[in-house]
Amino acid sequence: MFKKLVQGVAWLGGKAVDTLFNLLDDEPIPKEFFSHYFSEAELIKSDTAIRHGIKNEPNSQQKYNLMMIAQHLLDPIREKFGAFSPSSGFRSKELNDLIGGAPNSQHMQGEAVDFEVPGVDNLKLYNWIKNSDLPYDQLILEHYEEGNPNSGWIHISYKTQGKRRQAFMLPRRNP
Ligand SMILES: [Zn+2]
Repeated sequence: MFKKLVQGVAWLGGKAVDTLFNLLDDEPIPKEFFSHYFSEAELIKSDTAIRHGIKNEPNSQQKYNLMMIAQHLLDPIREKFGAFSPSSGFRSKELNDLIGGAPNSQHMQGEAVDFEVPGVDNLKLYNWIKNSDLPYDQLILEHYEEGNPNSGWIHISYKTQGKRRQAFMLPRRNP
């Protein structure tokens, strides 16, 4: 259903696509559309949400945003550094509040993902992304302690328009 609809309306432009998205809130984006290496489910799943019985269900626009991060940022990072599974992607407001996320966190729009790559120093990862041509909005090396390659994690965000292309390190947790 999704495939046919997308092929059918792609040429109609933004308005038709918006309408389509409204119709598809309940439908997952098929794996073959989503990205080479990542699935929608993997960027939505939250153990914390499950543990606390919190709903963590993005709407179709938020799912689309997750797909854009996967295709434009996560896939190329996976190509370079090898397999990883993000620790946090989409967060409903309830989930974000529960874990103490920033009130305007991009995770709530499906625009941000947190991850580490097993066996790769987070500082090396950060520097490589920072100096790459990847079209990120914000890149943050969070909670990193110098000299401890396993400390911290990478927070990366993507926006279709208005990319800030900011990169910085935060010694303390700031999801
Ligand atoms: Zn984050």
